[in-house]
Parts: sequence; C-alpha cells; structure tokens
Amino acid sequence: MNRFVIADPKLCIGCYTCEVGCVEVHVKVGLVGIPRLTVTHTVAGTMPMQCRHCDDAPCEQVCPVKAITFEDRSIQLNESVCIGCKMCALACPFGVITPYGALPQGETSMTYGGFLQPTPAPVTETPVHALLAWTVGQRTVAVKCDLCHFLPEGPECIRVCPTNALRLVDEETVITSNAERRAASVEAIATGDGLALHHPGL
Ligand code: SF4
Ligand code: SF4
Repeated sequence: MNRFVIADPKLCIGCYTCEVGCVEVHVKVGLVGIPRLTVTHTVAGTMPMQCRHCDDAPCEQVCPVKAITFEDRSIQLNESVCIGCKMCALACPFGVITPYGALPQGETSMTYGGFLQPTPAPVTETPVHALLAWTVGQRTVAVKCDLCHFLPEGPECIRVCPTNALRLVDEETVITSNAERRAASVEAIATGDGLALHHPGL
C-alpha cells in the first residue's frame, strides 16, 4: 500500500503554516517553489488537500512521457521530465496536481501565497479546457506532493503544523486502526453499549 499524508478538518485552523513549510523545503533542494498541498475552505470545514498517492494512480497512467512513477510506496513526479501537458492534472480525482511556470491564458496574475510569480501569458480565443489553456512553449511543469522524499525525517508539513492536524498513513497505520476499531466494536456489543448501534430496535 502506498503511503500518504492526510489532515483532520477537526484540528486544522487554516493557518497555512503547512504550505509555507512545504515551499521552504522544496526550494532548498531546487524544486519548484509552490506548495504541494492546498489549504481548502468549505462550509463544512477547512483542511489542506494533497496527493493520496493512489495505488492505481490515474495521473501515472495518463502521463505521456513517464514523468510520474511508482517509487518507494509513493507516486513521484519528476519535474525535469515533465513536458507540462497537464493531462495528470485533468486525470487526478482530488485536484491536487498544480501546473506551474506560466499563467493560464487570459490570466494576468496568479499568486501562490506570495511565492514565485509565473510569467504572464498572451490571451487566445481558442476554446479549450481551462486546465489545458496555458501558454504554449513556456516551461510549465506539474507539481504535486512527493512526501518530502529527500528529507530523512519525512514530510515537513506534519512537523510544522501547530495543531498536529496532519499525519502520515501507511499500511501499518491502517492495520492498527482496523484492529482497534474491531476490538472497540466487539467490546461495545459485548457490554450492550453497541446494541442500539448494531441492532436498531433492540
Ligand atoms: S496526483 Fe491525484 S491521481 Fe495522482 S496519485 Fe495523487 S491523488 Fe492520485
Ligand atoms: S508531505 Fe511534503 S510535499 Fe507533501 S504536502 Fe507535505 S510538505 Fe508538501
């Protein structure tokens, strides 16, 4: 099973510290300077969204130049190989791949928390999907969470979050969590506390 980082919306306070930490560590190793996770606000709650490192990753399947590969129980995107076609961004069901480097056509400014600014693009009338309408010929690459694979201590976002809203999920985590939930269910049923839950009407 691939590993991935996930946030708890009950703990996230929307402070953007994870985004800042993400940019800092990636810029230091020469990678694109935008966050690999996006703090997302909805009426129901707030939390950062990032790659789930799908075991059968749609982004990996559609990449025409094999810039996205399965490595060390994760899905990695090689920014040097990427040709900026944005097919992976279209294919990702979570919307967590960000094309970066030029502006979408028609846009005059785009800010990622005050980080690096992309080059303005000329306007075109060509009717294409917004994710594909980027400046042709300019260096745009797809950017996504890489689990900070270059850091021995693991993902930076987990360390910098002031409310501990982020955690790494791996196979061990799932096995332990399932075992705990099964045990809790048995205890609840055996003591009668779970009867109403599992057998409504009793
Ligand atoms: S970028 Fe999207 S499709 Fe690709 S592995 Fe991550 S969540 Fe899955
Ligand atoms: S795990 Fe690393 S790359 Fe992924 S969102 Fe967190 S800081 Fe960014």
